[in-house]
Amino acid sequence: MAKILNIQNLKKSYTSGSKELTVLENINFDIEEKETFAIVGPSGSGKTTLLGLCAGLDQPDSGEIELCGTMINKLSEDERALLRNQKVGFVFQDFQLIPTLTALENVAVPLELRADKNATKTGKELLEKVGLGDRYDHYPSQLSGGEQQRVALARAFSTQPDILFADEPTGNLDEETGKKVIELLIELNRESGTTLVIVTHDMELARKTQRILKLKGGKVMETVNV
Ligand code: ADP
Ligand code: MG
Repeated sequence: MAKILNIQNLKKSYTSGSKELTVLENINFDIEEKETFAIVGPSGSGKTTLLGLCAGLDQPDSGEIELCGTMINKLSEDERALLRNQKVGFVFQDFQLIPTLTALENVAVPLELRADKNATKTGKELLEKVGLGDRYDHYPSQLSGGEQQRVALARAFSTQPDILFADEPTGNLDEETGKKVIELLIELNRESGTTLVIVTHDMELARKTQRILKLKGGKVMETVNV
């Protein structure tokens, strides 16, 4: 099986004032195409930092990141942005919808940016699929948290990414709503065959994936098959 992500000897630190804080050290793992993968660990263990590096949002101090066949640690900011736009989808804890756009516009924007003539039609189909077929014209502020995250899911899958990164996608939702969002995420993922990487501190959610990487204090404790 082909690897879609390959991480070698990754190190990342932050400097605040005169102090250097090493957040990730000696990280090695890879993810196969179409695999579903969870990164778990306590708060502050470096999960979000690791996801940002894997997805090309941020750069490491040292180490190598191969994403979709490209060594992204050698790319410029612009080159990484281009790769993200073409191949990567994101779902965030705080939804990150554009507040001045309707649900439909939020979903259609990534498609319109690619000059996709069917942007609105595809957007409608996706909103239908996430159960929001009656909410096209609602603004994010007129939607509940769970509904906003469903719009964000529709947006994330709209461009048919090769790999989707979700950082605590249920972190701002109550338990029941969170479960529904996860069911939907897994269903959309199954249909599209996208590689899925979920960051979570919820072991129940992590166990719905095929493999779990456990992070602690910026180091990989173990990787387990579910
Ligand atoms: P997690 O997502 O597992 O909660 P993070 O990756 O957000 O962990 O953070 C890991 C560590 O890095 C924490 O100690 C956090 O305070 C620190 N950190 C994260 N982002 C920054 C930043 N931009 N500047 C300085 N320290 C940061
Ligand atoms: Mg985090």
